[in-house]
Amino acid sequence: MAECGRMIPCGLCPDGATCKLDQTSHDMWVLDQRLVRIKRRILVLSNKGGVGKSTVSTNLAAALALRGERVGLADCDISGPSIPRMLGLLGARLKITETGVTPVEPLPNLKVASLGFLLDDPDSPVMWRDSYKQEFLQQLYGGVAWGDLDWLIVDMPPGTGGELISTRELLMRVDGVVIVTTPQEVALQDARRAINGCKDSNVPVLGLVENMSGLACPHCGGEIHPFSEGGAARTAEALGLPLLGQIPLDPAALLQADDGRPAVLAAPEGPAGRALLALADAVAAALATQPDTAAI
Ligand code: ADP
Repeated sequence: MAECGRMIPCGLCPDGATCKLDQTSHDMWVLDQRLVRIKRRILVLSNKGGVGKSTVSTNLAAALALRGERVGLADCDISGPSIPRMLGLLGARLKITETGVTPVEPLPNLKVASLGFLLDDPDSPVMWRDSYKQEFLQQLYGGVAWGDLDWLIVDMPPGTGGELISTRELLMRVDGVVIVTTPQEVALQDARRAINGCKDSNVPVLGLVENMSGLACPHCGGEIHPFSEGGAARTAEALGLPLLGQIPLDPAALLQADDGRPAVLAAPEGPAGRALLALADAVAAALATQPDTAAI
């Protein structure tokens, strides 16, 4: 805690320890200082868990960082933070300095913050009231010293609940949402709910990503579709949205993720790695067509 008693340190404030702002005004001021240095704010969202949101967020962030973009990855999944494991960062810790919380940097150009970095035991459950979650999100976006970023990628929890509403309010401007789904109707229906939730909140949807989209048969090499075929393409077309990518089911990518090595780094030429690298290009291209961000 800073000298003046605030959770978010005052190293940023021109008045330092003598700052007389009340807590809320101070936190909003600090948040503002962070956000002006972040060019693009992207949410990765699905209404359903287990469809590959964290996989897409992690690989998208790593792929953009590989291209020399300055990227922040904010893990907003409070009850299931899986980003630390997927980036091989279990046991990493956030440091608090006078100017904010220092994010973990697993790669040059990639800064990561997650509640997982604050848990002593990765298996301990997080059961928080909404007010706690709101405070955490305020710290995630405003307390972390993100510095100058070309991209802030936010890995959202499943659903269109409180975290989405709070994130939209705290970030003030969301430049685009990437909706992740799998090909079957049960997941697509949830994707449509998420898309409609974004439309109702005036948040631009960049497009859909179909994950677990087919698999190369390990015996004959032919393509098989365990979760059905073409669902996301049909949904995207019906909603007038781009299909940003199709990521195949790739058993090697699953093991790499468990092992802390995202597919775009561990196997960029593998089925998932190739598709995820192409996804990063598609997201950048889709964002460039948005009226408010084309010039960024
Ligand atoms: P969510 O964030 O939506 O809950 P995750 O990204 O955590 O989903 O993915 C759930 C599990 O599926 C993880 O073990 C992940 O490694 C695995 N997975 C995700 N996408 C693929 C894929 N294309 N091929 C193989 N495994 C995948």
